Amino acid sequence: MSCLFCKIIAGEVPAAKVYEDDQLIAFNDINPQAPMHLLVVPKRHVATLNDLSAADDGLVGAMVRRAAAIAKEKGHDGPGYRTVFNCNAQAGQTVFHIHLHVLGGRTMTWPPG
Ligand code: 5GP
Ligand code: ZN
Repeated sequence: MSCLFCKIIAGEVPAAKVYEDDQLIAFNDINPQAPMHLLVVPKRHVATLNDLSAADDGLVGAMVRRAAAIAKEKGHDGPGYRTVFNCNAQAGQTVFHIHLHVLGGRTMTWPPG
């Protein structure tokens, strides 16, 4: 298995987990870009957003709702937070196992870099 996030899911690479259930895991980003920066990751390997199908709508919904729940738990629901999916090279995707970035705790700028 060569996928880093599959290795984290399998427990072969350590990560600071903040949530886990049968289909999702969430852990702190190793190189945080905000006071809160975590990744919500499906346990099933899906390389990019381009590889999702209608059968994954529930999974993606669960990822987004989990991001909102964790942000709320950490007190970022009122002030606000940002969720980001990067897809492929031009968007800056570096790990090819889909993940939802959840960032909060500082003012964000727009447009993103
Ligand atoms: P991408 O650039 O693919 O959208 O995001 C990949 C993210 O994974 C980056 O923010 C990067 O800091 C994070 N990352 C890379 N390697 C590791 C690791 O070994 N552990 C954790 N927790 N995060 C990682
Ligand atoms: Zn994977």
